[in-house]
Amino acid sequence: MISCGQGEGPRVEHMEFHCITLFPEMFASPFAGGIMARAVRAGLVRIETHNLREHGLGRYRQVDDEPYGGGSGMVMRPEPIAAAIDAVMAQRPGLWRVLLTPQGELFRQSMAADLARREPGLLLIAGRYEGVDERVRGLVDQEISIGDYVLSGGELPAMVVVEAVTRLLPGVLGNQASLEEESFGAGLLEYPQYTRPEVFRGQQVPSILLSGDHEKIRRWRREQALERTRRRRPDLLVKTPRG
Ligand code: SAM
Repeated sequence: MISCGQGEGPRVEHMEFHCITLFPEMFASPFAGGIMARAVRAGLVRIETHNLREHGLGRYRQVDDEPYGGGSGMVMRPEPIAAAIDAVMAQRPGLWRVLLTPQGELFRQSMAADLARREPGLLLIAGRYEGVDERVRGLVDQEISIGDYVLSGGELPAMVVVEAVTRLLPGVLGNQASLEEESFGAGLLEYPQYTRPEVFRGQQVPSILLSGDHEKIRRWRREQALERTRRRRPDLLVKTPRG
């Protein structure tokens, strides 16, 4: 199911996320509450885990082995991962295959928007140990890193991708307009937000926000967003559209 949205290409209205992992149980609670749980209940997304162990080799369902050439730790063998990918793809052809790895392309909001257009969905492969055999890279469409640090497994990175992409699907957020104003939505950090009380520990809500003048408020927010981005993330301003 697809619909026309902003940006390039159609936006998918229903998306599937398939995750190959040694720890499927990790995926239960992060999606059990809030917007993610609502999206699943509403049928806007489907999240399915596939236990890599089921494709392990031999009696002990082995999925890893020592690295050729020596060195510390274990490396994930390619055959179980290939078998798991083949099994999922046979069941759901057309999935975009993603390997989570600290050596991948850095995950950004723009990448989440691109992934949100990948019908029928994503197949996310979570590594463990010292990572995967180099030949696994030839089995995927994209390699993604969620940041310049190393985690013990690809499960949390996979969940980060699932959540960031899901928020962009039509109908998931109550107010689609908030996506535009949100940090990175228009290439800027979001403007400062205030709610009640009007005075908190001596700090007053900026009077312009109480003025009721929507055009002035819009301009003030835009200036604040620009200023905040300039101070905190000047790197983002290189490609910021004017407006
Ligand atoms: N030895 C690998 C290296 O130096 O590149 C790191 C392996 S890491 C301990 C184990 C697994 O965690 C990886 O295969 C990957 O799936 C996942 N992982 C760790 N950090 C990640 C990151 N920043 N982004 C995406 N996946 C990550």
